[in-house]
Order: sequence, then C-alpha cells, then structure tokens
Amino acid sequence: MELLEQRILRDGVVVNADVLKVGSFLNHQIDAVLLDALGAEFYRLFSSCPINKVITVEASGIAIAYVTALRFKVPMVFAKKSMTRVLPEDVYTTRVESFTHGRIYDVVMSKQFLGPDDHVLIVDDFLANGCALEGLLDLTRQAGATVEGIGIAIEKGFQKGGASIRAQGYRVESLAIVESMDPETGKITFRSAC
Ligand code: 5GP
Repeated sequence: MELLEQRILRDGVVVNADVLKVGSFLNHQIDAVLLDALGAEFYRLFSSCPINKVITVEASGIAIAYVTALRFKVPMVFAKKSMTRVLPEDVYTTRVESFTHGRIYDVVMSKQFLGPDDHVLIVDDFLANGCALEGLLDLTRQAGATVEGIGIAIEKGFQKGGASIRAQGYRVESLAIVESMDPETGKITFRSAC
C-alpha cells in the first residue's frame, strides 16, 4: 500500500537491524486519517469473507483493529495481557513472547466474546517472528472459531513469521512488507507487489 510505504519512508526510524519505530503515526501517536485508510484497505481485501469479528492483542493492535472493525460493522475483541489470574474458567489463555520486550506474557480472552460460530479477521500492527499471531491463532483454535484471514500493517519480510504463518495455510495480507532495513544508513526497502 503506497500510502503506508511512503509514510514509513518519511517517518519510520530504523532503531537497529530488527526494530522499526513508527511511534509518530502508528503505535504511540496515531495518525487517525492514515489508520482509517488502513481499515478501508483491509475491508477491500477481505470484504468477500463472512467476517463477524475482528480480533487482535493489546496494546498496539487495538487502534488498527478498531478502524477495521468499524468498516466491517462488527465487534472488535482484543486479547488482554493478563496481570492477574482472574476467573481462569471463563477465559481462553495462551502465552506470547513479546518481540519488543523479550518477555513472555500470558494473554487471555473471555469465552463470552469468541466461540465456534465466529468467523474472524485477525489484525495486528507488525508481523515479525509470528509469536503474537501464533497466540491469537491458538485462542481461535481453543474457541473453535474460523480464521478467515490475517491483516497486518507492517510485515518485516526478513523475519520468519510471515513464511511460517502462510505455510500453515492462512491468508496473510500485509499492507507493507519491509524487505530490508539498514540501521547505518536508515534505508528501508519494500518487497514489491507481484
Ligand atoms: P511477532 O510476535 O510477530 O514476533 O512480533 C509482532 C509484535 O511485536 C507486534 O504486535 C508488535 O507490537 C511488535 N513488533 C514486532 N516488530 C516490531 C517493530 O519492528 N517495531 C515495533 N514498533 N513493534 C514491533
């Protein structure tokens, strides 16, 4: 998606060989107009699928999942990073290793909000090694829900998550795929759309 790629080139900061900082428009300060366009693009890509729920994991997936859910006019549910072990019988739980913090979180989602009748679109801001997506896929498996597709704003194509999730048969649509980024020069290149 040209609009997102141009914004990454303009405002993205290559922190190191693995991490791209987009805090000025995507996950600290949020450019609401840009996010609205991302939601519209996910709707265009997945509108033929019978999606009745959009799911993500807190915190940085929430805004983009919300604008997407608004387009589909369906609820959005986010998995919560569990601080307390409240009512374990009422929640699905899984473990996710945080890419940015390097620690493992328990994440939970209420059984009230995800079940076998649900057809979900999973949305997140980044795809790196795929741990956040594996956690969300695990929650949908526990719920017996159907995954209609996965929408990612920025995939780092040089990390293993995209290949591994696609190899499992899921449809993954990433709006920008970073092919390489150089912390020395700050140069970012994208995988060209085929
Ligand atoms: P994964 O679980 O695929 O390894 O990483 C995805 C999660 O880690 C995303 O939810 C995102 O919040 C965070 N993340 C991964 N890579 C980056 C990055 O380069 N920049 C930022 N800001 N967050 C990232």
